[in-house]
Amino acid sequence: MSRRRVTFPHMGEYWIAFETLVELLGAQAVVPPRMTRHTLEAGAHVSPEFVCVPFKYNMGNFLEALEGGIDVIVQAGGGCRFGYYGEVQEAILRDMGYDFDLVNLVETTNLPMLVRELRRIQPGASYPRAVKAFLIAYRQAQAIEAVEDFVRKNVGFAVDRGAIDRVTARFLRELRGARTLRAVRDLRSTTLAALGAIPLAKPENPLRVGVVGELYVLMEPFANHNIERRLAESGVEVHRFVTLTSLIEHGLAGRTFVRKTIAAAGPWLEFHLGADATESVAKTWELMNEGFDGMVHVKPFGCMPEVSAMSVLQRISREYTFPIMFMSYDAQTAEAGVDTRVEAFCDMLQMRRRRQSGA
Ligand code: SF4
Repeated sequence: MSRRRVTFPHMGEYWIAFETLVELLGAQAVVPPRMTRHTLEAGAHVSPEFVCVPFKYNMGNFLEALEGGIDVIVQAGGGCRFGYYGEVQEAILRDMGYDFDLVNLVETTNLPMLVRELRRIQPGASYPRAVKAFLIAYRQAQAIEAVEDFVRKNVGFAVDRGAIDRVTARFLRELRGARTLRAVRDLRSTTLAALGAIPLAKPENPLRVGVVGELYVLMEPFANHNIERRLAESGVEVHRFVTLTSLIEHGLAGRTFVRKTIAAAGPWLEFHLGADATESVAKTWELMNEGFDGMVHVKPFGCMPEVSAMSVLQRISREYTFPIMFMSYDAQTAEAGVDTRVEAFCDMLQMRRRRQSGA
């Protein structure tokens, strides 16, 4: 069978791992162009008006990739109406005259099932080949997460921020060519060592802020207007827990993970709120009790699970005088507004810290 041309939606830098996965399966990856305003406008133009913004971004990615000719679109989802996105997007694109196969990874609740679905990307790919492709791509995703975690926590304190950016850019470039488990492991450790050697002017007890919310807006800096970087550059150690590999692991753990998360939410939740909203509450509760300085909650406008989480977070914030900044994004959200709010939030955290220390 000929190599199929396969595309997928963007989400942060994970496109590198998706590209590797597709190519190691024997297919040809067609990475959608980098996100721009045009991506969102094109996607929004063909999407139902009130659908949440990740749907529109994904549609924009598909439209931009389809221009080059595509055999397969890979979509994932679940946990909320995201579970229906693939089918709705397929129907819209077919009505527009596009012809392709959809590989929808919604129902994959265990590893063998996931591998079976992945083999549909390139029929003929053997089971061992699909397992190997998945493992290498997964390690690449974990390497991206480890590097980004370091950057979130330290870039605001680097004496030369450019040095962190240069190491990160080199890592991402080289990761595309690292297609064995050993190559990924070596690149990950040399990159973390290089980052660790960059001088920091970091106080012993820096401001710490957790970022929680809806998965797509959390993990796509274009969609959240680079909020983590803006926070970090305001002198904050930024912590985020939702990542692609954590979602895969939690998805495979199923109800066990949900039960644990509800328990971690303390007195605030009895039932699962859907998608990542239960985790938003649990992490906020945990981090507040650990002495974090504040939280940022991000969500797309109209995201039902996170709207439910917000009502709980607002109570936590009120009853414990714990700062939480709520950011809601839609297709119209302006970058300047995000900047101003981040700046004001961080100034408030600094003042609060000084007051608490009696300075
Ligand atoms: S979590 Fe919220 S924004 Fe994301 S797909 Fe579900 S409803 Fe939409």
